[in-house]
Amino acid sequence: MAENKSTQLAVIGGGPGGYAAAFFAADIGMEVTLIDPDVNPGGVCLYRGCIPSKALLHVARLVNETDEAAAWGVNYEKPEINLNRLRSWKDEVVKKLTGGLGQLTKQRKINYVRGTAVFKDSKTLEVKLHDGQKQTLTFETAIIATGSYPATVPGFPPFSSRVMDSTGALELADIPKSLLVVGGGYIGLEMGTVYAALGTKVTVVEMMPGLLPGVDRDLVNTLAKRLDKHFESILLKTTVVEMKEQKNGVKVKFKSEDDKEQEKRFDKVLVAVGRKPNSQNLDLNNTKIEIDHRGFIKVNPQRRTAEPNIYAIGDIAGEPMLAHKASHEGRVAVEAIAGKKVAFEPAAIPAVVFTDPEIAWCGLTETEAKKQNREIKTVRFPWAASGRAATLGRSDGVTKLLIDPQTERVLGVGIAGPGAGEMIAEGVLAVEMAALVSDLSLTIHPHPTLTETVMEAADLFFGRSTHYYRPKKK
Ligand code: NAD
Repeated sequence: MAENKSTQLAVIGGGPGGYAAAFFAADIGMEVTLIDPDVNPGGVCLYRGCIPSKALLHVARLVNETDEAAAWGVNYEKPEINLNRLRSWKDEVVKKLTGGLGQLTKQRKINYVRGTAVFKDSKTLEVKLHDGQKQTLTFETAIIATGSYPATVPGFPPFSSRVMDSTGALELADIPKSLLVVGGGYIGLEMGTVYAALGTKVTVVEMMPGLLPGVDRDLVNTLAKRLDKHFESILLKTTVVEMKEQKNGVKVKFKSEDDKEQEKRFDKVLVAVGRKPNSQNLDLNNTKIEIDHRGFIKVNPQRRTAEPNIYAIGDIAGEPMLAHKASHEGRVAVEAIAGKKVAFEPAAIPAVVFTDPEIAWCGLTETEAKKQNREIKTVRFPWAASGRAATLGRSDGVTKLLIDPQTERVLGVGIAGPGAGEMIAEGVLAVEMAALVSDLSLTIHPHPTLTETVMEAADLFFGRSTHYYRPKKK
């Protein structure tokens, strides 16, 4: 017999969208039930995504830096990797953060239900609890925040210990001698960086003409130069036409642009060709909720679905599939439920690829401006002119601003270089606050820091950057 419960707000999915929404709702006085299969909130981001990968990328950066330190007169032995310890450290980080979220859930008196929910109708959920029992939960309002899952390619073998998805790669079962990464996007490049630093020979195969399709080429090129050194090879405009799991590895047949085929064996393969929304397993057909051809739930600017009392946020509500976009949408949805006049209409959603160098951008990109045929003025400040970058031995970065030539408003910011992910927040603020390029130029930035590159890029717009001389056009 299913237990019957009721709640004011049911939040389905405990990732950064769901738990942020649940916490905020509880903070403004709502009675909340948060449903997720894991022992604590956290979702893919904390258990199987952003957090464990960033812990490992931190280690990768350390390993790579010890490699470069000889140039500064410090010689290290080749690092010895204690894989068990490394794995435990990563797991400890995850446990600490998800445990913390569990405590925050209790402190806010949120009813945390460990299980998976499906819709019986627009007011009722059936929750399959992790102990096998069932619970019927009636709700006044619900927020769907069930995220996404890794996509694969038709004809590829199913995910296994050899043909891994991002979750498998993050488990770090071993350090394979060779790894093929299918897909040169966020996950492929971040996890490729981790494995390469641990000693794996990493090959990346990307079907498009460049890595990170859609991202501005100047930023990607800065990254690609360094990846060329760390990766065994990067195959562009190449597809995998056949993949066979064997006893001693995975046999892969590639086809390049000129129709040439080649075959190679890899110890392991990571398939990172994008993610798909988790909208299939919710019995949405018992409601009026609509999904688009890619499986995303259709929502209005308040994140409300076709059912007036049900909202959807995060990966399931459309691109970009980023944790911080989900959390922000969660806030908007809760405020809408509380009767506030709100809409999800950010001027800038930052994106960060946590490789080395990191690349980060927000607002308008040059790629997008070109698509829109929009006139912009771009200024690029090369890190070769930054004192701080020189002290780090990293003069290869770039900071650029995209400016509206008429209003002189900052429309977009792009950064490639170590710490770009932290620095981009200034760009987001500038774009959100409709800052003028003169605002960035007149803001005193601390010296010596990489943030000065933002100020000097702005100075460059006026032809008066201190550390970069550009002869005036006659
Ligand atoms: P992605 O969309 O970033 O990259 C997928 C890549 O695979 C693309 O470059 C695409 O052209 C390529 N591709 C697709 N099919 C292919 C094929 N058959 N052969 C070769 N290449 C192929 O997807 P992802 O890396 O899987 O990441 C999924 C999502 O997760 C991202 O879009 C992002 O939103 C999120 N994510 C974000 C971060 C971050 O914020 N730092 C990190 C990891 C993941």
